[in-house]
Amino acid sequence: MASFGPDPVPASDLPTFRVHWLVTLNHRNRSLGFALLWLVMAAQMRDHAASGALAWTLLTLHLLVLPQLMYWRARRANVPREAEVGHMLLDALLCGAWVGWLGAPLWITALTFVCTTVNLMGFRGLAGALKAAGLYLAGALTVGFGLGIEPTLHTDVLATLLALATLEVYLLGFAWGACQRALQLHRTRAQLAEREVDLRRRLDEIAALQHRLAEQARRDPLTGLHNRRFLSERMLAQAGAPAQPIGVMLIDIDHFKQVNDTHGHLVGDRVLQAVARLLDMQQGGEAEVVCRYGGEEFLLLLPDRGAARMRALAERLRVEAESLRVFPSPGGAGLGVTLSIGWASGQGEPLERLIERADRALYRAKQGGRNRVECGLG
Ligand code: GH3
Ligand code: MG
Ligand code: MG
Repeated sequence: MASFGPDPVPASDLPTFRVHWLVTLNHRNRSLGFALLWLVMAAQMRDHAASGALAWTLLTLHLLVLPQLMYWRARRANVPREAEVGHMLLDALLCGAWVGWLGAPLWITALTFVCTTVNLMGFRGLAGALKAAGLYLAGALTVGFGLGIEPTLHTDVLATLLALATLEVYLLGFAWGACQRALQLHRTRAQLAEREVDLRRRLDEIAALQHRLAEQARRDPLTGLHNRRFLSERMLAQAGAPAQPIGVMLIDIDHFKQVNDTHGHLVGDRVLQAVARLLDMQQGGEAEVVCRYGGEEFLLLLPDRGAARMRALAERLRVEAESLRVFPSPGGAGLGVTLSIGWASGQGEPLERLIERADRALYRAKQGGRNRVECGLG
């Protein structure tokens, strides 16, 4: 009757679980349980013929002193759980011995047999319970046969009542422990579920942040257009894909340096943003990619829909740019820009080559007087 079964494990005690939990629990339960058992046995022994000073001394040593020694030993044991299991087996053996000596009084036998086997069942499973039962029987038979004691099965009335009360206390304690353990388990599961939700939310946030950062790394902060890094990634991604006819347009603002020199960098920035907005409107329609290729140079990547259509688009962009106006000062005169555009198209040709051809065409547009469109022939 050492233990009322497993108790809840407070989360804060987890690191010291093996040392404190079982030893403390067993000490409390064994002390209480054996004190009650002492009363049961005392009630039975009152009228027992052989009850002399030695028997009372042994009973007191076993039920009132030994639990304290076991506690002392378990606290110092390297593996407290193993020490406690050993103590429980000793409980079974000694309880069996008392029962054998008393002639197997029915209620005391039932009480001690149930409690000692259930304790071991709780900590060592069926094998533990069987071992406890074996030791119990060994104790009972050794003492009973050894001393030639006749089994009477008789239990004193007071001892019976006390035995039933003790059994009730034991079972209630066991159930209380199981209930506390289930509640603790439920709380721990709920906490884990909460933490999992929190963790998932954080992972989602991190994924969203990573996505935003990756997107920012592919964008030009001034104009919001894609940058060259994005173009390179696109080129890499398409490297193994079947070659589609594609067109490239390189667009350069004419005499942009003069804008900076005359009106300052901030106005220059606004001109870049105005041109970028115009080009961005082609994104998703005519153009697959619109990116800021360099300082005041932009690149459009688009499906090749024939030379006439490429030229028409380039012309339209050039003409629309002419009507763009940026106002360096409020109420002042509007500042216009012109664009020089070189384009090239082809199928199965590396994009770098197409860009080179478009660049040569752009150079010719500049040489030809700017605000022009030129085609880079293959
Ligand atoms: P061209 O007609 O031959 O293209 O002449 P350009 O003046 O437009 O070309 P150039 O290469 O001589 O000058 C480009 C200028 O663009 C120089 C550089 O300071 C400016 N620039 C590059 N990036 C930025 C930017 O982000 N903001 C501003 N305001 N200016 C920039
Ligand atoms: Mg320029
Ligand atoms: Mg340039």
